[in-house]
Amino acid sequence: MARQKQRARCPECDAWVNVKDSVELGDIVTCPECETRLEIVGLNPLELDYADDWEDDDYDDDDDY
Ligand SMILES: [Zn+2]
Repeated sequence: MARQKQRARCPECDAWVNVKDSVELGDIVTCPECETRLEIVGLNPLELDYADDWEDDDYDDDDDY
């Protein structure tokens, strides 16, 4: 059984963003190209939109190594 990866275009930079099979409406994904936070606004077809109602906390847990 081939597992189909879902993907949609980033509205910011037009890159393809892969998402898990199990995503649900309202889930947040991050574009691998421009790091924009995107919200799942449609599932069939998959659609992404800016997730801008997040507070700007500068929450960043990238570890530099
Ligand atoms: Zn992007």
